[in-house]
Formats: sequence, C-alpha cells, structure tokens
Amino acid sequence: MARGFFNVPVAVNEPVKGYAPGSKERAELLATYKTMFHSNIDVPMHINGKEIRTGNTKNITPPHDHQHVVGQYHTADKSHINEAIETALAARQAWSSVSWMERASIFLKAAELLAGPYRAKMNAATMIAQSKNVHQAEIDAACEMIDFFRFNVQYMTDIFKDQPASAPGIWNRVEYRPLEGFVYAISPFNFTSIAANLPASAALMGNVVVWKPSDHQAYSAQVIVDLFKEAGLPDGVINVVYGDPVMITDTCLSSPDFSGLHFTGSTYVFKELWKQIGTNIHTYKTYPRIVGETGGKDFIWAHNSANPLQVATAITRGAFEYQGQKCSAASRAYIPASIWADVRTHLEKQTSELKMGSPEDPSNFINAVIHEGSFDKIAKYIDAAKADNDADVIIGGNYDKSKGYFIEPTVILAKSPTFSTMTTELFGPVMTIYVYEDEAWEASLKLVDESTEYALTGAIFSTDRYIVEKASKALENAAGNFYINDKPTGAVVGQQPFGGARASGTNDKAGSAQNLLRWTSVRLIKETFVTPQDYKYPFLG
Ligand code: NAD
Repeated sequence: MARGFFNVPVAVNEPVKGYAPGSKERAELLATYKTMFHSNIDVPMHINGKEIRTGNTKNITPPHDHQHVVGQYHTADKSHINEAIETALAARQAWSSVSWMERASIFLKAAELLAGPYRAKMNAATMIAQSKNVHQAEIDAACEMIDFFRFNVQYMTDIFKDQPASAPGIWNRVEYRPLEGFVYAISPFNFTSIAANLPASAALMGNVVVWKPSDHQAYSAQVIVDLFKEAGLPDGVINVVYGDPVMITDTCLSSPDFSGLHFTGSTYVFKELWKQIGTNIHTYKTYPRIVGETGGKDFIWAHNSANPLQVATAITRGAFEYQGQKCSAASRAYIPASIWADVRTHLEKQTSELKMGSPEDPSNFINAVIHEGSFDKIAKYIDAAKADNDADVIIGGNYDKSKGYFIEPTVILAKSPTFSTMTTELFGPVMTIYVYEDEAWEASLKLVDESTEYALTGAIFSTDRYIVEKASKALENAAGNFYINDKPTGAVVGQQPFGGARASGTNDKAGSAQNLLRWTSVRLIKETFVTPQDYKYPFLG
C-alpha cells in the first residue's frame, strides 16, 4: 500500500573499474577466476524457486580451453516447460499486484549487490564461459547490468508519472498494468547484462517470466539467478530453463497465456519466432508483444577529411574487441583512396600489438570465439576470401582450435563492395574494407545504405560539417545507433539507448522507457464526480 508519491534514487552509471596491475580489484577478480575455473559447477534449472536437476546434462567448457570442463547444466523435457509456465502464472497474482516500490527495491538491491559482493563472481563467470577479457567482462557483466537495474527503476517511475489531463468534474488516470499472461525471454550468449535484462525488465513492470538463456551463457546465468534470489525476488517470478530451444519455444508459444516475447539473438531465429507467433495467433488470449533485437552488419564510413589514425583506432576497437562478437561490432568499412595507405599503416601497427590468449592473462586483448560452430564458420569465410580474386586477406587470417577457438584479428580488402564478407554477419574478429575513389563519396554512402538487410549500428568519420550533415541524412535509416567520429560499439545505458531497425530488430531500445512500455498494457480509468441523470443534450432543445 503506497502512502506517498515516492522518488527513486537518481540513476547514475556505475563507474568502470580499471583492473590495473597491483589493484585490489584485479587481485580479487583473478583469484575468483582461478577458484571458479576449478569449481566443477552444477547448474540446475530454476522453477518456482526450486533447483531442478534432471541428470540430462551438458558440459560447460571455456571457449579458450575447450577440453577443460568447468561444470555442467541440466536440461528440460516438455513437462518442465509446462511446469515453468504454470508456476509463472501462479506467481502472477501476487507479483503483478504488489506495490511497484517492492519490485523496484529488489532490483535496486540487485544493483548494489552486483556493484559489491557479486562483482568478481559475475565477471569471472563471464570471462570463463564466454571468453571475455577483464575489461569486456567489467563493462558488460558488472557495469551494464547494474545500469540496467538502476535506470530501469527510474524509467518505470517516469512512465508512471505520465498521466492524462482531467477536465473539470472528472479524474482521468492511466495505470500501467503488466501483460495478462507470461513473458518468454530468450537471451544470446554474448552479453551477460542482456541475459539478465531480458527477464528483469519485464519482471520489474510486474510480469512473470520463463527465461531460456543461451547454452553458452549458463555459468553467468547461474550467478544472475543467485543475485536475484539474494536481492529478494520471490519464487516463480523468473523461471529458468535450459535445453532444446525448439522444444522449449514450441511449448511456450503454444500456451494461450503467452503474452510477450523478449528476444535478443540472430535475425533468422527471430523471424521464425515471429512467424510461429503469427501461426498461433488464434490460440492466444491477448495479442502478444514481440520485442526482438537481432543481427547486424555494422559499418564505419570515412570521408577524406577524416583523421586516418582515428579511423584505424575505431576499426581496431570497434571490430576486434570481444573478438567482434558484439552485435554492434564494426565488420565493414568504406575508406577513401587518398587516406587508405595511412589508415592501413596504423591498422597494421595496432593489430600487430594485440595479444591473443586466455582471459586469465589480462594482457590478452583477444580471447576465443564462443564455440566450434562459430569458429568453423568464420574460418570458412576467411579461407574463401584467401581463395577469391575479389579479395585479399591483408592482416591476420590465421586460426587454431587445438586448445581454444582462437582466430586472429583479420582484415580483408574487398575489390567488390558486395563481396560476401561485406554483407554477411560473421560474428567474429573479421573486418572487410572497401576502398572507394574520393570523388565517389556520395555513391559510397548509397552502398553503405543498401548493401545489407541490417540497420543496427554505424559510424561516420569526417571533420567537414557539411559532409557530416549530408552523410547523417543519407544514412538516416541505415542504423538505429549512429555515431559521428567514434566507433559504433560501447553503448551505455542511460546515455545511448540501444537497438536497430530493418532486419536488426524492432528497435525498442534496451535500457530505455520505450522498452519497459512494451511490458505494460495501459488501463485508462475515468471517474466522473457528479454523474449526469438527464440523457438530453442542449442541442436537442
Ligand atoms: P542465436 O540466435 O544463435 O541464439 C540466441 C538465443 O536463441 C539462444 O538462447 C538460442 O538458444 C536461441 N535459439 C536458437 N535457435 C532457436 C530456435 N530455433 N528457436 C528458439 N530459440 C532459438 O544468437 P547467439 O549466437 O546467441 O547471439 C549472436 C546473435 O545475437 C548475433 O546475430 C547478434 O547480432 C545478435 N545480438 C543482437 C543484439 C542486439 O541488441 N541487436 C545483442 C546481442 C546479440
């Protein structure tokens, strides 16, 4: 029962820790890594707050050391999914009607726990099982997740404050109800923060959730579950299941109570899910909300007024951090001929300095790609480029999966702007560059805009404001997150709400009020104080 209009703490971004040699946080994180690496973790599913162990397990192995088993996770059969749905629906009555302050408090507490006692554990699990270096783990698993929790609480109250006007004698109110049913959250491997946010954002708004994490993120998913539990999330609100994605999805999407999909992952999978929801539409009690953030083929475009060192640095960071496995990672670049030689020189120097290996050694900038399927696919494209007259592999191009799935940062120079690696999302450390004649800069913008089906992130580099304005206009629909003189990665919650359009997603902007609104169904309440008793309007006289 609310007895006041409460303000929530003003959200601020969690400061990124430096992990410099000799620092306390570095020592703590590396010690935690060592312990967790040898812990043999057993990851259960979580249904109604109970740990479910089916004995049907799969191994968790670090991508950078694939013969080492760090533990296993348990997988579901159909009965577990039905139980997760029933449990969620049973929890809904209490969760959807509890005061919003109670829900806010749980996620604010989760943020503080993660900023403190859970930070090293969450980062270490992400380093071990998703092969992120110290910095990549810190900005994702710690800072971004904390920011999601804090800012979403603030956005929720901003939404609640948005109320209609009331004419004299009446009172209009809107209440932001949770959806009637359950939300199905499907998360990708590459961001621990996204994995937590997909179920948490819906739950914050009063929804109950069945959450299917990626098989390749189960270790940090377990730390998320522990965090939510310690923060006080009641049983049954977020139920976690692993296993065959098709079986789990078929079961969830055939329930009449399915009311929303919160998906992040690849474009093809999302389109198939949308289709399946359409096919089942007569089954549902409400029209389900469909939110999907999906693939990208993110670009860097430079004009000849750009600084070559700045362009090269944006490519090195934008394309190769986390092995290019960010949805926002730059993977195609368009460089004018007059500055290409300088850009190339800087790029060769920078990439030659990048060390590759286990995240346990913080001096490694590059770690492994997520799994063998991804390694094989990327290696195949690199080999094809080596063999093709339309392309030259000018940097890197070597790979080795004997111990871990390691692929060198690779730069392909394409003679054709539609060469396969200029248009296909590889999700690995591969950048393809097309060099255009300086005077054809306007035509090159058209290439950027029209070469792919995606529109997630993109960056332009120029010191000429006329060009900046023209390029921004020409690429208006080519990216949901558009960067001027900066790399196209590294969006921060509360500063750069994230999402793309076209085949890159529904652009509901994770980490913003727009996203949270999708998990509500507004009820308008109009109350009239002196109720009319005569049906006749004056004009009838
Ligand atoms: P993925 O599509 O392979 O898997 C994502 C999730 O979908 C996983 O949980 C997976 O188990 C599940 N899944 C796979 N096949 C399924 C099916 N047939 N039915 C139901 N669920 C299924 O993606 P990934 O490899 O985990 O992540 C990389 C992809 O995610 C890239 O395409 C990347 O661009 C995209 N991504 C986008 C964003 C964004 O904000 N736009 C953020 C992160 C990742």
